[in-house]
Amino acid sequence: MSCVKQSGEAASGLPGPDPAFNAYAAMQPRVPAQTPAEARNGRRVKESAVPPQGVYLPNDNVLTPQMRSPEYVQMSNAAAITLGIMPGRMHRCGCTRCLNLLLTYPEGCRANCAYCGLARHREAERDYADRNFIRVDWPAVPMEQVVDIVARDGMKSPFHRMCISMITHPRSDEDAVAVLKAWTARIDPATIPVSILSNPTTMARADVQRLRELGAEIFTVALDAATPTLFERTRGKGVQSPHRWEKYWEVLLDARDVFGPQKFGAHIIVGMGETEFEVLSLVQQLVDLGGHSHLFCFFPEQGSLMDHLPATPRDQWRRVQLARYLIDFAGVRIEQMSFDAEGRVTGYGLPAAEVDDVVGQGVAFRTSGCPGKFSDDVSACDRPYGDSPPSDIASFPFQPNKRDLQKIRRQLRIPVVPG
Ligand code: SF4
Repeated sequence: MSCVKQSGEAASGLPGPDPAFNAYAAMQPRVPAQTPAEARNGRRVKESAVPPQGVYLPNDNVLTPQMRSPEYVQMSNAAAITLGIMPGRMHRCGCTRCLNLLLTYPEGCRANCAYCGLARHREAERDYADRNFIRVDWPAVPMEQVVDIVARDGMKSPFHRMCISMITHPRSDEDAVAVLKAWTARIDPATIPVSILSNPTTMARADVQRLRELGAEIFTVALDAATPTLFERTRGKGVQSPHRWEKYWEVLLDARDVFGPQKFGAHIIVGMGETEFEVLSLVQQLVDLGGHSHLFCFFPEQGSLMDHLPATPRDQWRRVQLARYLIDFAGVRIEQMSFDAEGRVTGYGLPAAEVDDVVGQGVAFRTSGCPGKFSDDVSACDRPYGDSPPSDIASFPFQPNKRDLQKIRRQLRIPVVPG
């Protein structure tokens, strides 16, 4: 029996959804342009071979030095500020709790994902280390310096977790291992646990096993697209990119076997053309396998093949955030929820007062990701403003306050509590 309710009527006494949502037909990426031979494979950077000198802040006006993992890694501005290697302050955030370390090479990522600022088609436009990624720049830092600072801070470190983010590159399996070894040689993974954001395209089950044996605690797979069709369009042949849905699932199931329940998960971007029913079916499938989902709100990254498309409407995003939280952490099943003919959530499978209570707690609208030290449903990976501008926050990198919650209620079209 289908749980898609074929009407626009709302369950749980809530008003029906807003008609606007990012439908599949409207979310077509651009076709990537050919890169001139002189700009392919990081040739400019490799031929000029400028030696790196410590921390490199992305700068489109200078010749990018030749930096490679495992000696160098990139990190978000938020992580660099928290680590104290870059000046700056973040809107309403003291720091980030997750140190995301991104592997880096002059050749960059060899994939071409349509929504990603790091994609290969940008070779002609910007050197790899200067490309924006999830809305912000990613400074490059010597790995030794990163480890020195975190080891020096010891138990006082602000970080609750470290994450090694792989990209699609022939060296990335070996270098993920090298970065993990460099970390665990000086920092106890029981104090700051390690997650792996994997690149399944280059990995085999033995690679997954090896990372577990070397001390990684959680393994995630960035499916990003919620359906096979959308995956092919945004990460596969549709954009001349090497990824395959089947391979991603093979490695995801390897991770389930090797890392075990609650220690694996998948990233999903909401609003690239899937329906709410489709993305929540995937969330349920992951929970049934024993894993978790980490959601990102689609944002048209400047320079990407989807930069002409609209960000996910906030009402669509909030419904999926709330429903995902209920499935992941409150034991509600998708079969209890109701949907309209367009696959939009019209009921959350709980009485309105209980839904209201979860909304009021606010945790459902925080950034989702691997847990930190506060509680299982509060992510260490808070990615400040990684999927929205601070003026219209999608994933809250902190606990939403009363005014934030009033805005969220308006976006969800549920009554605003006076006060
Ligand atoms: S594999 Fe990852 S880093 Fe590379 S283009 Fe795709 S999303 Fe971006």
